Amino acid sequence: MFEYDVIAVGCGPAGLMACIELKKRGFSVAGIDIKVRLDKNYRAAAGFLFDEQDFNNEYIRNEPRGDTTLLTFTKAGFTFLYPGKTRPVHQSHLISNSGRIYTVTARNKPIMHTMDPTLWLKGLYDEARRAGVVFRTRTMAINAREIPGGMEIEVRQDGRKKEKMTCRKLIAADGLSSRIAKRLGMNRDRPLMDNAPTVEYHMDNVQTPFAEGDIGIFGKENLGMDGYIVMVPGVNGEKEYRIETAVHGPALNNYYAIDYFTRKSRFAHWFENARMLSKHAALMQMFPAMKVPYTGNVIFLGDAAAMAESLYPGATASGYMGAAAVAKELGGEKGFAQYTEWWNNSALEMTNDLQKMAEYAKRFLFNSWMGAEVMDRLFELAEKNPLTVDEFNGSPYDFARSVIEHLQSLPGIHRDWQQQLEGLKQASLHEFIGVIEKLKEGNRDIDYSKLQS
Ligand SMILES: Cc1cc2nc3c(=O)[nH]c(=O)nc-3n(C[C@H](O)[C@H](O)[C@H](O)COP(=O)(O)OP(=O)(O)OC[C@H]3O[C@@H](n4cnc5c(N)ncnc54)[C@H](O)[C@@H]3O)c2cc1C
Repeated sequence: MFEYDVIAVGCGPAGLMACIELKKRGFSVAGIDIKVRLDKNYRAAAGFLFDEQDFNNEYIRNEPRGDTTLLTFTKAGFTFLYPGKTRPVHQSHLISNSGRIYTVTARNKPIMHTMDPTLWLKGLYDEARRAGVVFRTRTMAINAREIPGGMEIEVRQDGRKKEKMTCRKLIAADGLSSRIAKRLGMNRDRPLMDNAPTVEYHMDNVQTPFAEGDIGIFGKENLGMDGYIVMVPGVNGEKEYRIETAVHGPALNNYYAIDYFTRKSRFAHWFENARMLSKHAALMQMFPAMKVPYTGNVIFLGDAAAMAESLYPGATASGYMGAAAVAKELGGEKGFAQYTEWWNNSALEMTNDLQKMAEYAKRFLFNSWMGAEVMDRLFELAEKNPLTVDEFNGSPYDFARSVIEHLQSLPGIHRDWQQQLEGLKQASLHEFIGVIEKLKEGNRDIDYSKLQS
């Protein structure tokens, strides 16, 4: 006899959604998580929501319903009533080392929206509670092993003695650096690609000169060291931002960079009257995505199987599709194999196309690639010819390319810069990492024309 039909280890968006769907289908389901509260986001999460556009093989329709928002995942075929308002973002600002401002404006359709990660989790958690899912919080899964007909997991609650729990199918939705994946040998062929730490300040009453839009800030002059800071507008008013770092070197550099930016840089006056709402951090361990996200009676959902961020919507869709797969398996069908087909062909684009990862990262690394002085000059040129359009594809895979093409078209642009930009536009993940490594070592002697072949 098994205690539950299904146990989900990890109750982020993927685990919560899977629990809801399985409970609705009549299975006994338990969700376990180390966290104290499941309706609250603890880790850094900027709140970007790439909806109303094709992204990651999905198109999410955004329909405000009073104080809530109905999000329809038109391809995966489900809806989620997000219990809050999302915020349209019509502008994206990039700021160079010397303080030059590059602005993209989309007049008609928002470039994207932002959402509150805590509200997203709350929406899912409240629905799961209403459906009757059993939850164990402050409980860590330590180990998992196959037993005849199902799985046995070892858990520890509040540091007490270890206990065993059993289920017919196990959902590993324990996020990046999944312990269940490690324990079951799923990372053997997945070399660690990067360890990226970040620090996030969530602040209110921040006074920027920008009415709306996210702000990306580059450079030593602004951060006290090379790197990038992004400020993402919150959903509760014009002065609320989530401010996140991406800098090289030891993790502590992220703290130094955000401290410098908010207290000592030329932008410190934006924060003079600011109120700290909360501080967050994260360490993103990136492995190539799993090609076969299941083994025996276990399926891996969301970030546990992804290369980097499946993002809140991607993890939620993975939870929905994963639940259908588990239900089929419990009915004697090959649900996991069908899920694998979806995961590899219809889920996250970067799961099956490494180049997408490079496109994603280009935005953060403009400055390292182009050099601070060239960026300053380019942004100076762009101030006279800003990019203002009716609609702009703000998906992370397309943003950098569109900005590069706009910069290349600026009147008066130097031929060398055009070529350097072309190199950045065409760079594969492999070339990109190679050049960035050279630049980090201070080697600027790079033939960008060779990178375009
Ligand atoms: C810095 C940063 C910025 C981001 N910005 C955005 C953004 O702007 N928009 C967006 O949509 N997404 C963003 N994301 C990505 C998003 O947070 C993830 O992709 C998403 O949360 C993945 O959901 P998940 O359910 O797969 O995993 P997670 O949300 O990571 O949930 C995993 C859960 O498992 C629990 N857990 C882990 N190990 C165990 C264990 N051994 N036992 C019990 N419980 C365990 C954890 O406590 C956690 O609750 C960001 C992520 C980071 C790090």
